[in-house]
Amino acid sequence: MIISSVPRHFLLAQITAALILSLSLALLSYRFKALSRSGAVGTVVVGTIIFGFGGVVFAIPLLFFFISSSIFSHLKTPGKIQSLSGADKTGTRDFAQVMANGAAASALALVYFLSGDIIWFFPYLASLCEASADTWATELGTLHPDSPVSILSLKRVDPGQSGGISILGTVASIGGAIMTMLVARSGGLIADEFLWIDMMLWLTAACCGLAGSFLDSVLGASLQAQYRCNQCHRRTERRNHCGLPATLARGVRFVDNDFVNFAGTLFAALAATAIILLLGA
Ligand SMILES: [Zn+2]
Repeated sequence: MIISSVPRHFLLAQITAALILSLSLALLSYRFKALSRSGAVGTVVVGTIIFGFGGVVFAIPLLFFFISSSIFSHLKTPGKIQSLSGADKTGTRDFAQVMANGAAASALALVYFLSGDIIWFFPYLASLCEASADTWATELGTLHPDSPVSILSLKRVDPGQSGGISILGTVASIGGAIMTMLVARSGGLIADEFLWIDMMLWLTAACCGLAGSFLDSVLGASLQAQYRCNQCHRRTERRNHCGLPATLARGVRFVDNDFVNFAGTLFAALAATAIILLLGA
């Protein structure tokens, strides 16, 4: 096992810097209600692992995902507020939501650190491209009351419902994956080891991210639990509605939005790993 060539004192300094930066960002986001208290803890854990063990090049696309998602979730229109009222969780992100988007990425930053092989940056990037694609689609796709259709049945669904796709949401998800990859690529310019990386690998990360967000929508339209409120009879992703437990109308009880998001990032990372192995890169 090659434990990264980074000298020990440098690593300690990097982890300290990562902790300070993550803590500042988490506190700021908590202050602006982009994160709950548990979400702030999750952000410190994910940020410290990724920046601490992956370094600046790993931190750049993570920061881009984090800042762009926080800004977009603050953009609100009456249509969006209405759309997301049935969703499981909205706006303020908690620990499970942060982990759903950041657990696969954190694991890959550690794999990179332990192996010392920069190739692990690409599955890492694929999982972040997926997280951006999915978050941008939800946050931007619901700004306009487009009428989304189910990705599986192509029948109309309520805006904001999991598994629903719209033109605006699809454009936003492609934009999220491509922009995250381009920002990461610009960040890679500061490290010599990225200079010889083929464009194919960058595109693989973005495409696997998009494939993951496609899977996310398919799971959202099929296995994800959906409930019907016994009081107002609306469909919802929440277990409780109008202060009462809602009845399971479709899907599997433990498959919630966080489970689906985690599956999407994991799939993106695994698909990128498989392609890299096949390419023999
Ligand atoms: Zn209700």
